[in-house]
Amino acid sequence: MPQMRIVLDEDRCVSSGQCVMTAEDYFDQREDDGVAVVLREEVDNSAVDRIRRATDLCPGQALRLAN
Ligand code: SF4
Repeated sequence: MPQMRIVLDEDRCVSSGQCVMTAEDYFDQREDDGVAVVLREEVDNSAVDRIRRATDLCPGQALRLAN
């Protein structure tokens, strides 16, 4: 399986924090405005389901998985 990577559209992020709660090893939030930060762009195969859940939960539709 090709390695998936996380793509974040900062302009769509509404700083809700679901991504951090779902995968704090992949996401953080900026101190000042809460916009998401991707800590690790490349997703381990074992974490793909978890990251997909984070993208599904994102209320701003700011996250997606890409090859
Ligand atoms: S779940 Fe989506 S909207 Fe919420 S902080 Fe993460 S990227 Fe931003």
